[in-house]
Amino acid sequence: MQELKSFLQNEWQSGTDKPATLFDPSTGEAIATASTAGLDLGAALAYARNTGGPALRAMTFAERGELLTNMSKAIHAHRAELLEISTRNAGTTLRDSKFDIDGATGTLAAYGDIGKELGDRTFLLDGEGMQVGRSPRFHGQHIQVPLRGVAIHINAFNFPAWGFAEKLACAFLAGVPVLTKPATSTALPSYRIAEILVESGLCPAGTWSFLCGSVGDLLQHVTAQDVVAFTGSAATARVIRGQERIIAQSVRVNAEADSLNAMVIGPDVEVGSDTWDLFIRELTREMTQKSGQKCTATRRVFLPENLITATVEALKDSLAEVSVGSAHDESVRMGPLSTPGQYPDVRDALKELAVDCEVAIGQVPDGDGAGGVPFEPVVLICRDPKNTPQVHEVEVFGPCVTLMPYSGDPIEGGAMVALSNGCLVATMYSDDLEFTKDLLLELAPWNGRVLMGSKRIADHSTGPGIVMPSLVHGGPGRAGGGLELGGLRGLNLYMQTCAVQGSRPVIEKILG
Ligand code: NAP
Repeated sequence: MQELKSFLQNEWQSGTDKPATLFDPSTGEAIATASTAGLDLGAALAYARNTGGPALRAMTFAERGELLTNMSKAIHAHRAELLEISTRNAGTTLRDSKFDIDGATGTLAAYGDIGKELGDRTFLLDGEGMQVGRSPRFHGQHIQVPLRGVAIHINAFNFPAWGFAEKLACAFLAGVPVLTKPATSTALPSYRIAEILVESGLCPAGTWSFLCGSVGDLLQHVTAQDVVAFTGSAATARVIRGQERIIAQSVRVNAEADSLNAMVIGPDVEVGSDTWDLFIRELTREMTQKSGQKCTATRRVFLPENLITATVEALKDSLAEVSVGSAHDESVRMGPLSTPGQYPDVRDALKELAVDCEVAIGQVPDGDGAGGVPFEPVVLICRDPKNTPQVHEVEVFGPCVTLMPYSGDPIEGGAMVALSNGCLVATMYSDDLEFTKDLLLELAPWNGRVLMGSKRIADHSTGPGIVMPSLVHGGPGRAGGGLELGGLRGLNLYMQTCAVQGSRPVIEKILG
């Protein structure tokens, strides 16, 4: 069985014992082990800070951008192999594996382009300079400079490639070295990427470290200039934020956590219209892409009561076209859940929801998914969502959605979405401008992103599940309160904003 190592202090290192086992979820076969026991993680962070940090800070934005572009190319050159590894370890069909691998290379390339545009600077000017005294000679200007620590990136199991890339792209471009820790259960694609990057020799020593396996005592060694960017469950985010060392050092923590993302259907939408077809198409995709194991997948749909039956009928037809089975079978559109442990988790969460809901499509399974049994899509109906708190609290991280009635009033629709206390993304479907505007302003405070689905974009929409490097990713409250990507905004997490005061000519001469 393959042993996955960590790349720390510019060399491959093996953990000493207690390895975790990685599986092929389509077959249940054990395929690799990973251990971090005995690794000196304090020394690893110090090496990254002291060796990788200066190397990256000496590079201009254009040079850092070129590095990202070259990393993207190096990974893309191994695309076919990485797609196969993804399918084997993450249980994703070819199409879903492309979503992760191509998402990774695309995001690195996008930030490569931003670096090129920023040119030969090593820090950023933030806004215009301003007079801050009685005379124009006394001047103020904000600048942003890279932090002197390490960006510690702890990722979830569902995007082993994109999760690594979307975080690294922003930190590298800002000028901060990175330590990537993928989720252990699906670490194989990230591990192969690590091998490719090390073999390429692209990253100067210490700029990129890779911890493969349990997090160990890593967070006991953070300092005030380090950043922790975490993606995973709200429960783990709480544990990380609550750590004494993190609190004592005021370490920046960005959390991308669970989210019960929602769709709201306007009362103007007619069955069979272009907007209706877009809604059904996107809901089907959100339920089944990556077997519903996307943080941005839709979990709740609010719609006028008279549309519920038609929605169930339309979903019966669209879901019947999604063949479910082994990710190795090319005719299959939806593979199994990504890890053997996920099946009982998803089943139990679904049971909790189903107590006060009708099961409209599929069934709550009894088994444990042993041997790669896929999780079939399930559609629930909750008739009384205002008095059923669990539909807004329990995240079923699989191919499941709950349909719920609302009056058609945009203020009420927005309030229903907000019952889950913050989401990554909400989607509305309507061609009524007043409804769209009123609902948008209700949704925006509670959602990191709002997709306004309508007939005007029916042929262009990429759906709510796709996160773009140019738009922010992250949401308030339950969704973690984080913010990633969004073009240049993504660099803020890794840079210190400093207000500079002094003589205007001096400031202008020094800062350019
Ligand atoms: P998880 O159990 O919270 O694990 C996430 C990561 O945290 C893994 O790398 C894990 O390492 C690590 N970890 C576990 N305990 C830790 C601790 N005490 N200190 C530091 N790190 C620790 O989440 P998951 O099961 O991998 O992912 C599923 C969840 O992620 C879902 O709830 C989903 O909604 C959420 N998610 C959110 C986003 C987003 O962008 N908002 C994206 C994807 C997924 P090990 O694997 O070694 O245990």
